[in-house]
Order: sequence, then structure tokens, then C-alpha cells
Amino acid sequence: MDRREFLKAGALGFLGLMLGEAKMIHAEAAYYEPMIYKRFLQFTEYEERKATEFLVIHHTGYPGIDKDSTAAGIHKYHQEANGWAGIGYHYLIRKDGMIEQGRRPNAVGAHAFNHNQTSIGICLAGNFNIGTPTAAQMDSVKELCAWLCQKYELKPMQKGVIVGHKDVNHDVDCPGRQLYKRLPEIRQFCEDNR
Ligand SMILES: [Zn+2]
Repeated sequence: MDRREFLKAGALGFLGLMLGEAKMIHAEAAYYEPMIYKRFLQFTEYEERKATEFLVIHHTGYPGIDKDSTAAGIHKYHQEANGWAGIGYHYLIRKDGMIEQGRRPNAVGAHAFNHNQTSIGICLAGNFNIGTPTAAQMDSVKELCAWLCQKYELKPMQKGVIVGHKDVNHDVDCPGRQLYKRLPEIRQFCEDNR
């Protein structure tokens, strides 16, 4: 081996090492936090959640119309019409896929009666008994759930970990037929990206 070959072998070895390392890092990589728009909404009270055991998927479900909403709009509505501390959901996903922060991530939400102490509420804007979730909303809810499953060490395929609102409160039809039937797709994405 002359000097040039020696250098080449060294460079290739180094490159191989780098690639190997990159692969290793990739294998161990956490699923990254998706872009979440923080709105710094003001709440009248704040209670820390003791545990996070499951994710509850909702739709806004305005009667008779499949429309977009903002976290700020729901916040105002939940305070004024419901008399709550503020928006009940932890995350709102708009029709264009934008993820907005609602209630603080560690706070007890107000989205699933009797289950708020141990769950996170994720709401997609729309009425999915009338319309269908947009492709951007589906991408965002998958990314958000995958990240939350890692953050809270949840097993997405386990029964009761990623649920529709109606699974825990039987008197509602939330998150609407067209979103409810796609929950398996969300669970599978989370499983594939653990
Ligand atoms: Zn709901």
C-alpha cells in the first residue's frame, strides 16, 4: 500500500465510521417534537396532571358544518359558553395541518369526562360525520401522537392507548365516523416510528 492508497483507505474507513455512527444515531433517535405553535393563552386555573396513560382524539364537531377552528377561538368559547378555565384540549390541529398548543402539556385537560386526570386531548378541526380530515391533518396527528407516545412511553398498539372520544364517553359520537375509522392508521404510524 503506497501513501495514496493508505490515505484513501483511511478516508474510506473514516467515512464508514461516520456512516455507521449516523446509522446508530438514527436507530436510537427519538421521534422529534413536531412544530407546535404556542399561543400563550391565559387560563383561570391550572392543575398538573398526575399521569399520562392515553391519548384521546376529538373533532370540533360543530353541528351541520365541517369548518376550521383556531385554538384561540375554542379557548374563548370554552371560557365564555362553558365557563371552563380555557380550551379543554391540549392540542388543536387545523385544516392546514398546523398544530396549535391549547392547554399546557402538563395540565389536566377538559375533554373527556372522568378521564382528564390521565389523558391528553387532541382535537382536529372539523366535523367528520360530514367531511373528512385533510391529508395535512392526518400527517400532523400521526407526528404528534408518535412524539407523545415516545415522550410518555406509551405503547400505541395496546388497547386503550390511542382512543377516540366515544371509546371513553359512550354518549358522544366524537371524533366522527370519518376520523374514527382512521385511528388504526394513526396507531400503526406510531408503532412504526417508535
Ligand atoms: Zn370529543
